[in-house]
Amino acid sequence: MVGSQLVGRGIKNKAVLDAMRIVPRHLFVDEAFAGQAYGDSPLPIGEGQTISQPYMVAAMIEALGLTGSERVLEIGGGSGYQTAVLAIVAWKVYSVERINRMAVKARRILDGLHASNVVIRIGDGTLGLPAEAPFDAIIVSAASPEVPEALTRQLAEGGALVMPVGGENKQSLVRITKSGASLRRETLAGCRFVKLVGKHGWQ
Ligand code: SAH
Repeated sequence: MVGSQLVGRGIKNKAVLDAMRIVPRHLFVDEAFAGQAYGDSPLPIGEGQTISQPYMVAAMIEALGLTGSERVLEIGGGSGYQTAVLAIVAWKVYSVERINRMAVKARRILDGLHASNVVIRIGDGTLGLPAEAPFDAIIVSAASPEVPEALTRQLAEGGALVMPVGGENKQSLVRITKSGASLRRETLAGCRFVKLVGKHGWQ
């Protein structure tokens, strides 16, 4: 998975590659799909949700430019797979998931992996986590018509936010970087994610 899907397609960040070599992805997908866990595609994780393709996880985390000292906010924790990778490459991860059952299952797997620097919250991630802000990096793994303003507000100076933005069936992966009062916006790639459902996402 790491050699052909990630290095082969240009992922260079050593911490991300090392973390994705270590995290057992088969623990996070539906049991029926465990045999395909290291394949080049998204997979079902229950409740109509999907775990992103390995390359997408790597590309999004790489785009955050983490060095290891960051507090990261993740919206759409889902299975907890990306959370586990983030827990290795960052200092602390706050992960918000709206579906209670998914959050409970993710917590159990992450505890089994001794990911003690992960805080999981159940709720509407489009509101961010104001009590814990600001965050050095924010990563959203569900798509919204626009970047929720609550999230850019909770981004620290010099921080980066990466998320899919666009319509129901097709989006662009967008990176926002904050410097002073200004937000710089770049489009990184085309993508397709499940919906970000909440007050500042899809209703
Ligand atoms: N990164 C996850 C991908 C999960 S799919 C993984 O590695 O498995 C996207 C997730 O976003 C789903 O679990 C969905 O329930 C969640 N989600 C959608 N809208 C949300 C919101 N407003 N707040 C928090 N989580 C949300």
